[in-house]
Amino acid sequence: MPKKYLVAPRSQKCIGCLLCVLATSRYERKKLGTKDSPITIKGRPSAYKIQIDYGEEIKFPEKIVQICPQNCFDTI
Ligand code: SF4
Repeated sequence: MPKKYLVAPRSQKCIGCLLCVLATSRYERKKLGTKDSPITIKGRPSAYKIQIDYGEEIKFPEKIVQICPQNCFDTI
């Protein structure tokens, strides 16, 4: 099965809840918290930016797509 990659085509909808950051820490690193997550949220309300570290494999991108309440993510 081909690899899937996480992308954020609707980043303008982000509300900065950090659920995606926490989930990637948990699923990818087996850690709790926002440090060292492959996803970083920067900016301020109504102008958040989603940064995905493509230097690291995100093994469960579908879970991150599902967890975002604003539907910011997709897989390709
Ligand atoms: S889960 Fe979605 S809305 Fe929440 S910070 Fe991540 S991208 Fe933004």
